[in-house]
Amino acid sequence: MEGSTPTTRVDVAIVGAGPIGLCFANALSRRGVSALLIDRQARASLEAPESDGREIALTRASQQTLDALDVWPRIPADERAAMRAAKVFNGESLFAMQIAPRAGQDAELGCLVPNRAIRAAAYAALVDSPQAEVLWRCESEIETFAPSADDSGVEIRLAGGEIVEAALLVAADSRFSSTRRAMGIPAHTYQHGQHMLVCRMHHEQAHDFSAWEWFGHGQTLALLPVDTHCSSVVLTLPPAQMDALMALPQADFEAEITRRFEGRLGAMTRAAEARRYPLVSVYAERFVGPRQALLGDAAVGMHPVTAHGFNLGLEGVRRLAGLVGDARAAGQDIGAPRLLARYQRQQRLATGPLFAATLAIVGLYTDERPPARLLRKAVLRAGDAAWPVRRLIAGHLMRSAS
Ligand SMILES: Cc1cc2nc3c(=O)[nH]c(=O)nc-3n(C[C@H](O)[C@H](O)[C@H](O)COP(=O)(O)OP(=O)(O)OC[C@H]3O[C@@H](n4cnc5c(N)ncnc54)[C@H](O)[C@@H]3O)c2cc1C
Repeated sequence: MEGSTPTTRVDVAIVGAGPIGLCFANALSRRGVSALLIDRQARASLEAPESDGREIALTRASQQTLDALDVWPRIPADERAAMRAAKVFNGESLFAMQIAPRAGQDAELGCLVPNRAIRAAAYAALVDSPQAEVLWRCESEIETFAPSADDSGVEIRLAGGEIVEAALLVAADSRFSSTRRAMGIPAHTYQHGQHMLVCRMHHEQAHDFSAWEWFGHGQTLALLPVDTHCSSVVLTLPPAQMDALMALPQADFEAEITRRFEGRLGAMTRAAEARRYPLVSVYAERFVGPRQALLGDAAVGMHPVTAHGFNLGLEGVRRLAGLVGDARAAGQDIGAPRLLARYQRQQRLATGPLFAATLAIVGLYTDERPPARLLRKAVLRAGDAAWPVRRLIAGHLMRSAS
């Protein structure tokens, strides 16, 4: 590429300083690999992110990874809520399938942390890390990129004209990744035709710190414990019904949410602003290209119902940073095709079955035809250890990092 601007040289250029991009830069820096983070957002928004309403259910493996990156200790204790068990309800029935740790295991199934707290801690851990060799390009985007003349790297032109040369370009810019598109990587995209509302609500009655997943008719409800009398309500509805709900005055909104939960925790009042997300699941056809890799939601954008997205993204961080770090330690090329192929193989194995199973569960629990209702009832009462929701929720949450 031509131009008089001096070229910035870095090992890895990362598009997207979301929780995954930040953790990846952090993990690389611990292996002596430098990074440049490019994000549309202003630096101040990365440092002190606003609430987006998401409460993230973290697996044990994720807690261990965040601990190793010095992110976990920076999440204030009062931002972590224990999740002791999960209950899955079907329709009007009071019967719930219980998912709890087995005897002899820890008392907790998982831990819930606001996404805002994770992002803030991930940013702070990176900037405070003494070994971090990180460059920041905020309020910035990539304009073009191409392999360098001798194929030893990728040349990136940022909006504004700066040229960056890196051995590897990583897209971590969300499930709607424009970098993935520019790399020419197609993605299987599933529009679920539903919107998800998340909102912290106070409730009259205390709960027992169990998460509820409630597949009612025409709606899916979840309740995630935040404090004894406060939970995050998660409600999935068709867009037109969601429009009507969001337009309600506060008192009517609260009465409507209380009604939808059949008053099981008494009257509910709003504790924070409600947020809304259109539900779209995405699985990229490839996770790598020549000196290119996809990470986090840019590779796999999970449906939130089984709470896997960030957890799987962190597995990818561990995997790719491990391979890149090993290559650096051995004096090898950190963007070599064989390394990238290995990352792709391992990450697809870890995510593909969960992605497919989550889609199947979403299909089963949003299908209102009588055979599906009957199957749901039978499946819930079976209570078998191999039952898919049990395995998906509990098995994944309780797994430790290997
Ligand atoms: C309601 C809800 C609940 C969830 N609950 C859970 C849960 O319980 N457990 C779980 O594991 N996961 C959960 N998830 C998923 C989790 O939030 C995501 O997996 C996680 O945020 C992905 O992080 P990321 O860094 O890959 O992408 P993002 O968080 O989307 O960050 C992307 C970053 O890229 C930047 N960016 C975007 N485009 C560009 C561009 N062109 N140029 C430069 N920068 C760009 C953005 O500014 C942003 O900073 C939930 C998601 C939702 C919506």
